[in-house]
Amino acid sequence: KAKEAGKGTYLLYDTDMDAHKRDEIQFEEELRQAIARGQLSLAFQPFFSADDGALAGFEALARWKHPDLGNVSPSRFIPAAEKIGVIGDLGTWVLNEASSVAAEWPDHLSVAVNVSMPQFRDGRIVSSVRDALAMSGLPGNRLEVEITEQVFADRPQEIVLYMEEIKSMGVSISLDDFGTGYSSLLYLLKFPFDKLKIDRSFVTTALENEAARGVFETIAALGGRLGLTTTAEGVETGEQLELVQAVGCTYCQGFLLGRPMPVLELAPFILNQSACGAENGAESMRA
Ligand code: C2E
Ligand code: MG
Ligand code: MG
Ligand code: MG
Repeated sequence: KAKEAGKGTYLLYDTDMDAHKRDEIQFEEELRQAIARGQLSLAFQPFFSADDGALAGFEALARWKHPDLGNVSPSRFIPAAEKIGVIGDLGTWVLNEASSVAAEWPDHLSVAVNVSMPQFRDGRIVSSVRDALAMSGLPGNRLEVEITEQVFADRPQEIVLYMEEIKSMGVSISLDDFGTGYSSLLYLLKFPFDKLKIDRSFVTTALENEAARGVFETIAALGGRLGLTTTAEGVETGEQLELVQAVGCTYCQGFLLGRPMPVLELAPFILNQSACGAENGAESMRA
C-alpha cells in the first residue's frame, strides 16, 4: 500500500512538474512575442534633489501587460528575458524609447535606464547607448545607466573599458540596489561609478533602531567621501524623507514623492513641478 501511495505521489508530482514547465515555456514564448511586437511599455518614476525638493529626472521602468495575467512584474519578466536571450532586444528598445521620451523634457531633467548583465557582453551596450543618443538627440549628460553588481560577475577589466566608453559620451553610471547582494566595497574603487543608489531596504530599516540608522548614514557618507552622488530609494514616509535629508543624500525617490507613471502623465507632472518651483517643492516635501 505504501508503495502504491508512493507511486501515486510520484506521478502527481511528475504531472505537476510538466504543467509547471508548460506554463513556463508558454510564458517565455508570450514574452518573446510581446517584445517582438512592441507590446511592452515604460513607466517613469520621478527622483528629486533631497535638499531643495526640485525634480531632477525620472527612472524608466519596463512594463508588460499580459492579456490573461495582467501586469507582470519586471522582477519576473526581466530574468525570463535574460534566460531566453531576448534581453538584448528588450534593452535596446528601453534605451531608445526612454531617450526619445526624455528628449522632449526640459533640459535640466535626466532619464535613468536599467541595464542588465547580458547587455554588457561583447560591449554591445556601448553601441546601444551611442545609437539611442544619436536617434533621439538626447545629450549624453541627460542619460544615466543603472547597473547592479550582477554585471561584475566576470571580465571586470572589459566592463571597466565599456563603462569608460559610455562615460566618454557624457552619460553617467549608477550602481543600483547598493548594499544588497554580495557586493564587495572594492567594486567602488575598481569601477568608475558616478552615483550610488542606496537600496530601499536600508531606508526602510533605518528608523527601526540605532544600528540600522548607523549603517544607512555610513553608506551615505561613504558615497560622499568617494565623490559619488547618492540616491535613497524607496522613500515611503515623511519620517524617512527627513532622515534622507539629514544624512545628506543627494537625491531621493519613492512612492511618497511619486509613483512610476505612464508617459501621458509626464507633461502635466513636469509642468506642475516647475510651477511650484524648487522653493515650494522643498516646502511640499517637508509638509
Ligand atoms: P529598480 O531598478 O531598483 O527599480 C526600483 C523598483 O522599486 C521599481 O519596481 C519601483 O516601482 C519600486 N519602487 C520605487 N519606489 C518605491 C517605494 O517607495 N516603495 C516600494 N515598495 N517600491 C518602490 P519595478 O518597476 O517593479 O522594477 C523592479 C526591478 O525590475 C527594477 O528595480 C529593475 O531591477 C528591474 N527593471 C525594471 N525595468 C527594467 C528594464 O527596463 N531593464 C532592466 N534590465 N531591468 C528593469
Ligand atoms: Mg533602477
Ligand atoms: Mg534600485
Ligand atoms: Mg531594485
